[in-house]
Amino acid sequence: MAVQWVLVCHGLVTLLVVISFLCGQWPIFQGTFIERIHYFLTFGAYDYFLRFVGAVFGSKGTNAMLSVEYFCCDRPNPILQIIYLAIIGGTYYLIANSSFEYIPGYYLSGVHRYTSLLAVGVGVLLFLLTSFSDPGTVKADNVSKYISAYPYDGIIYSEKECSTCKIPKPARSKHCSVCDRCVARFDHHCGWMNNCIGERNTRYFMAFLLWHFLLCIYGTVTIGLVLAGQLKELRVSYILTVYYGIDNSFRSLAPHVVQWLLASYNTQILLMVFLAIVSLLLAGFFGYHANLCLTNTTTNETFKWQDYLSWQKKLNEAKASAAALKASVSGMRSEGNTPKSKWRAFFRKSPLEDMQVVKNNIYDKGFFQNLLEIVFPPSTRSSLFQTKSKSG
Ligand SMILES: [Zn+2]
Ligand SMILES: [Zn+2]
Repeated sequence: MAVQWVLVCHGLVTLLVVISFLCGQWPIFQGTFIERIHYFLTFGAYDYFLRFVGAVFGSKGTNAMLSVEYFCCDRPNPILQIIYLAIIGGTYYLIANSSFEYIPGYYLSGVHRYTSLLAVGVGVLLFLLTSFSDPGTVKADNVSKYISAYPYDGIIYSEKECSTCKIPKPARSKHCSVCDRCVARFDHHCGWMNNCIGERNTRYFMAFLLWHFLLCIYGTVTIGLVLAGQLKELRVSYILTVYYGIDNSFRSLAPHVVQWLLASYNTQILLMVFLAIVSLLLAGFFGYHANLCLTNTTTNETFKWQDYLSWQKKLNEAKASAAALKASVSGMRSEGNTPKSKWRAFFRKSPLEDMQVVKNNIYDKGFFQNLLEIVFPPSTRSSLFQTKSKSG
């Protein structure tokens, strides 16, 4: 019975951590302990660690930590790439080592020994493609192509020059401080890929996320089927009911089956839990980016829009309070002539309600067009068109 409760607690804690990490910043969790856990996981833990290092080793320790942080986060480096390869290689090795002896099994054919390797191979290939492909580096000789592919919207983008590269800055591009270059349709700098995610490799990045999500699901289900096959082949429920006299019902069998699985196949169970958690994380990340792609917005632009909208709101508030002041001054002047109902003034619509702040994203051209722009980036399309018209 104790094992059951440990399992339930383990599951709940894992769920809480995953939800807090993924969704803790959502408005519905504002002010709750989930938001606090999210803050701790994403920022607080590192902050405490820095303070701890400072307290133990003094300013020298803090400086060393900050320079490690600078090297790891602010300079191009392959640390996370190596970690990714270690994780995928290690996980595949553990699965092959622990579970391939049961394939083919009761529910699985032998083909999964090869399809699993193929699936991992495709994953690594997508990783290499995203890592080593050009994200759309803007240079003096191609800047005109990007400027014509991405018009300025006059809201969050206007004509500007990159102060570092000394070339015009096309709309939607950004100078990546880590890679020290301007990147077209800049989304973000991805540490795992040690590359920017921009106009030309967002498609590979999205394929990478989707593929690895499916890969984790594939792994979880396959290991689950290996265990289910073992239960069936070893006739575990039969032995439990006939030899141990346990009731032949799900409720009474389940704890014993779980106990038996944990004792005999703990590596597989751990792998399943790990893959399930990673698949959840990937699903969240893929969903977030898919939503951005389908609305033709970049991660970088979500911050720009946030700034723009809050600035507009403040502007409207200032305008509204100025208008209210003007109205009250003129009201004071005319007060002697016409006594007005205080109630009417109370229920009068606030001038703020009339002023709507809207996000007018001119790059959003509808679901299909947006998707097409991810698969066939506009700058590559125009070059394709140019070479065609040149040859023709
Ligand atoms: Zn630049
Ligand atoms: Zn970069």
